Amino acid sequence: MKKAFVKSYGCQMNAYDAARMADVLAAEGYAPTEAVEEADVVVLNTCHIREKAADKVYSELGRLRVLKNARAEAGRETKIVVAGCVAQAEGAEILSRAPSVDVVVGPQNYHRLTDLLVQSRQKRVVDTEFPVEDKFDHLPARRTHGVSAFLTVQEGCDKFCAFCVVPYTRGAEVSRSVAAILAEAEKLVRGGVREITLIGQNVNAYHGAGADGASATLPDLMRILQEIPGLLRLRYTTSHPNDMADALIAAHGTLPALMPYLHLPVQSGSDRVLKAMNRKHDAATYRDVIARIRAVRPDIALSSDFIVGFPGETEAEFAETMRLVAEIGFASAFSFKYSPRPGTPAADWADAVPEDVKSRRLAALQGLLDEQRHAFNAAAVGTVVEVLVEKAGRHPGQVAGKTPHLLPVQFDAPTSTIGTLVPVRIVRAGSNSLFGEAVPGAAVAGAAAAGAAAAA
Ligand code: SF4
Repeated sequence: MKKAFVKSYGCQMNAYDAARMADVLAAEGYAPTEAVEEADVVVLNTCHIREKAADKVYSELGRLRVLKNARAEAGRETKIVVAGCVAQAEGAEILSRAPSVDVVVGPQNYHRLTDLLVQSRQKRVVDTEFPVEDKFDHLPARRTHGVSAFLTVQEGCDKFCAFCVVPYTRGAEVSRSVAAILAEAEKLVRGGVREITLIGQNVNAYHGAGADGASATLPDLMRILQEIPGLLRLRYTTSHPNDMADALIAAHGTLPALMPYLHLPVQSGSDRVLKAMNRKHDAATYRDVIARIRAVRPDIALSSDFIVGFPGETEAEFAETMRLVAEIGFASAFSFKYSPRPGTPAADWADAVPEDVKSRRLAALQGLLDEQRHAFNAAAVGTVVEVLVEKAGRHPGQVAGKTPHLLPVQFDAPTSTIGTLVPVRIVRAGSNSLFGEAVPGAAVAGAAAAGAAAAA
């Protein structure tokens, strides 16, 4: 039996693409394997968002070259594929830097993976031209795994933030049709999925063709999807503050399936830095969006992205970021030191912030964000929350799942509860997970808000 090893780096979109590439290979008879040394095809689905990410790919390729040579000596052929955003950004350069690579394929072209592997028998191939055809029309049926799944509804981005490679590696914003998304969602739910996270680089800019040919927005789409029998929860990520339309904010108060969790990157609290980043909004706009969401869904869990040390960032401007964080309070967040990305406008800008200053600022920011995350987790202790059980837990007799706020919870219950909602009293908050006890039939926290949503 031929075997395929698919490894993905970076964002949820990459995770989704990796799952679809595994579908493409499975349709060709490749069984998935977690053991790279057994694989006849190895796919690295790469991320280009930070310097370290690209470097990691080349060191991994170095290890794979040794493995490939060892398998060749044993008469076993190994095909190495580089996919994802580094493939899109660097293309043929990867073939010259890494002689063991057979195929380089961009995020919009992986529906052609089987053909490219066949072509690579003659010569090594690169396929990163943005295709005319829509890859989704050429992908095999989606195989389902587990209780929660990502579903791409929108790709690409038209925002061109000065530090970001996405508009160059993923192209312009494209939204899938409601019909195509609905068909994929229904298939997922028939396969046992109970929670779907709608993903896009700028998911709240979604504007896909509706059944009536009119343009459907994200709340329109979610209203249709939540009617799928068996689907319990909906989430969406990643959003831009400027696309948080009134209807989308209102949906957090009216759609029972939409979970009270929002990942809304802000990057900085300083208007000058936001302008330099070309984020197209100021800090006041962000604060206003948050206030309007909290007015509709007071218990919402907020998450965000932050960059410290953007070119020219002063101590005073960093202090504005700290002030915004302290004021808003985040349940979770991702924070990074600025690293110039080749091909982005900011890459060649001078007035770089010294590395040690970046490190000090990142440590201060992460200290504050950690405090807030612990406080958010601790506030759940003593409450009864509805947990969607996803899998068996770490210990025998234990299961693991997520709260509506996307917090992981471990508690004792039979695995027959996987895929169901169980009321759980939270008894302890660990650093990364909550611990609880099942309380069948108990009223759950947030039911009021959810009830209001159902009634609306
Ligand atoms: S909105 Fe997000 S994906 Fe788009 S350019 Fe900005 S950071 Fe990149």
